[in-house]
Amino acid sequence: MSPQCPLCQSIRVGKNNYGKKSAGVVGTSAGIVGGFTAVTSGARTGASIGLIAGPAGGTVGGIGGAIIGGLLGGVTGATAGVTLGRVIDDKILDNYKCLDCGFSFSLDSEPEN
Ligand SMILES: [Zn+2]
Repeated sequence: MSPQCPLCQSIRVGKNNYGKKSAGVVGTSAGIVGGFTAVTSGARTGASIGLIAGPAGGTVGGIGGAIIGGLLGGVTGATAGVTLGRVIDDKILDNYKCLDCGFSFSLDSEPEN
């Protein structure tokens, strides 16, 4: 069901998604920071495993562990950020904007019919 403007009853309503956009960026940043931690431990784990195969294996294992740790951290953070942002958009911000009269509103503030 599409939202309707409480002022002019237009159904031409757009979504701002400010929260999703900003929280997605914050989440990605947080994920990258978390990813660095994962990079360090991933590199250490990879190097330990690789060392069984010899010194060259330690280098390869360390690089592989670092890449995997960084990717996982970034993706996890971005997903968490977008999810959080969606909640903020839906519950807190006036996420909907009427394309006809420009009125911003959230679904919660819509008058009961
Ligand atoms: Zn309107």
